[in-house]
Amino acid sequence: MTIVLNEHEWAEDMISSRSLGSKPFETLYRVARYYIDSGLSKSETRKVLDSFLIQCDPTASIPKWSDTLDAAMQRALKYDAVMIEKVTVTKAEMAKIDALDGKQLRRLAFTLLCLSKYCDSVSKHPAHWVNNEDKDIMRMANINTSIKRQSLMYNTLYRSGMIRFSKKVDNTNVQVLFAEDGDVALEISDFRNLGYQYMMYHGEPYFKCANCGITTKTETDRAGRPQKYCRSCAAEIMVKNHVNAVMRYNRRVRAQ
Ligand SMILES: [Zn+2]
Repeated sequence: MTIVLNEHEWAEDMISSRSLGSKPFETLYRVARYYIDSGLSKSETRKVLDSFLIQCDPTASIPKWSDTLDAAMQRALKYDAVMIEKVTVTKAEMAKIDALDGKQLRRLAFTLLCLSKYCDSVSKHPAHWVNNEDKDIMRMANINTSIKRQSLMYNTLYRSGMIRFSKKVDNTNVQVLFAEDGDVALEISDFRNLGYQYMMYHGEPYFKCANCGITTKTETDRAGRPQKYCRSCAAEIMVKNHVNAVMRYNRRVRAQ
């Protein structure tokens, strides 16, 4: 599952942009939960979900999607919407992470800490557990390395007493042991690219996109100016500007 801090806000964005996003099931259940919380009945929500799907993709076949739509409804009825503003990392926690030997290791520890805080805020029994899939953790930590090296990093964190593993076999859950209250060092309101956010905090060349808020590596443009937008937003804005310019031109030609 993708981590979204405010699922209602996220659903509203998807509804207004008529988008299923990259993970349609996640979008559908969040949109369903949004309508349930707005006071719609189960059957009304299901109808709205059908029409939302068609708005997103006019060629979609409702019978083909019916299982996914049912599953989205079921999940929406089972879980409350996540509504968290942010998670905070304290100076004491940051100091423990910074003391680790290795950039990737520090990014992994930082990501596990943020994820454990997220889990705590949506869990009935908060105890700093992380149960995300390994590949999702590595993606959020911006770590691209072999499975062997990943295991070595987990092992190092374990030996430093910073995490412990769940006792269950076949279960990769880890518990973060270095959470500590205190002065806030950093607030996290976006779980994409946590690794980059850690690097940016330490003054490395990363920036937050002015459009979508994702943290990415800074690249200067041809004129040497720092970027304002991430690559995908920059491309999208360029196309939009181009279309607007063409439309303005056409209007001028017609008016003559
Ligand atoms: Zn962007």
